[in-house]
Amino acid sequence: MRRAKIVATLGPSLDDRDTLRAALEAGIDVVRLNFSHGTHDDHVRRLEMVRELAVELGRNIGSLADLQGPKIRLGTLPPEGLELVTGSEVFLQPGAEELASYESGGQVALPVVYEALADDVDEGALILVADGSIRLLVTRVADGGVWARVIAGGQASSKKGVNLPGVEVSAASLTEKDVEDLGAAVDMGVDWLALSFVRKPEDPETARRLVGELDGDTPIVSKLERPEAVERLGELVEASDAVMVARGDLGVEIGPERVPAIQKEIIYRANAAAKPVITATEMLESMITSPRATRAEASDVANAIFDGTDAVMLSGETAAGRYPVEAVRTMAQIIEVAESSPHLVHPRPEWRGPNTETKVARVVAEAAVQVASDVGARAIVVYSISGASIQVVSTFRPPSPLLGLTPVESTRARTALMWGAEAALVPLKEQQADLFATAERVLLDGKWVQHGDKVVIVSGRPGGAGSTNRIMVHRIGDPVQV
Ligand code: PGA
Ligand code: MN
Repeated sequence: MRRAKIVATLGPSLDDRDTLRAALEAGIDVVRLNFSHGTHDDHVRRLEMVRELAVELGRNIGSLADLQGPKIRLGTLPPEGLELVTGSEVFLQPGAEELASYESGGQVALPVVYEALADDVDEGALILVADGSIRLLVTRVADGGVWARVIAGGQASSKKGVNLPGVEVSAASLTEKDVEDLGAAVDMGVDWLALSFVRKPEDPETARRLVGELDGDTPIVSKLERPEAVERLGELVEASDAVMVARGDLGVEIGPERVPAIQKEIIYRANAAAKPVITATEMLESMITSPRATRAEASDVANAIFDGTDAVMLSGETAAGRYPVEAVRTMAQIIEVAESSPHLVHPRPEWRGPNTETKVARVVAEAAVQVASDVGARAIVVYSISGASIQVVSTFRPPSPLLGLTPVESTRARTALMWGAEAALVPLKEQQADLFATAERVLLDGKWVQHGDKVVIVSGRPGGAGSTNRIMVHRIGDPVQV
């Protein structure tokens, strides 16, 4: 039984129905719709296909819409690209999608799709193109744009990403496109909404307000990939419903050598705050073109599990790679083996602080996990309206299976991202005795337990959200006394 979850990005490589079915069967738990690519129609079509297949396969598959954020990129270049020669000067034209001529004053000119480029950078600033493979140093801000010296050259091509490490980018965290995409994502009923390049706690709060104005309640995943976000990590984790270690842009912005330690810090803080955390990017990168993972990639996925991540993510591997199904299968195998290792010791983050709204639920969850292991329970069952108490029990990493029972379809789908959590849809329970009967039926039907097995049932005031306060040990088949 695998406990950590797999998020896989949809894209052309998974557009074929049979391939998608095989990839879901291989272990995808949550599909990611990347709003940096494709049209709303593409996302709607892909999500519909996933939902149909999930029903066919009897699987609980969640969905995550990932907004592009204030990503700066090059505009359209000539089809063959442009050679940037080390030592030469280039001119960057802000706010341009394409140029009439890719030459200015005898030098290469590049369109950059970001209006405020010349306002934001000063002489001496570093500009990184295409994940930092091309490096430019700003020499002067003039002629309505930016002149820079090429310090590491290469072939520039259309739409490549541009990063400005250390520069305070003035663009709003939610761009106009993001606000539109957010509306589409809420309409589509996605289960999670991820924000790129968040910088401050107000960013997830703004997104949550916009979702609320559309009568939605989609939880917000903050992608941590800017130095400002790392500096305000504690506050950002608190302000978000989940976080992502977005190692791609993070590595460009702060240097790849700092990524592993920051990954551990983010995972620790998310665990301590009882928020799901996704570790993302380049996990099985070589599988975009190869059917086998490298040893380093296998180690990377396993180490994210050892760090305590809830989920690991595939990007280009499943969206545009040649071996999407193999990538999911490989990831699932690496996780399973890591999880069976005696070296997997779940960190016990120090979470006790002042009395907060969630404190009772957390004390109850921690105790339930302890009770389950002390009595040798076969499963922990959590009845939950909002899903919050399923997440909290998941945070204490119970060794026994964790089954969430909920009357709310969106809650069921959201548990797909939570470590170790399975979920089933059940009728709203007004009576404690009904809950026991339902739990027994779901557990026996799903072959989780047999008659005589003990289970731990966590619940609150029947029918009420946010009231988790009960732990009960029940033997399957015994009469229920409440
Ligand atoms: P992206 O985000 O794939 O949307 O850029 C993840 C990352 O930067 O790691
Ligand atoms: Mn990114």
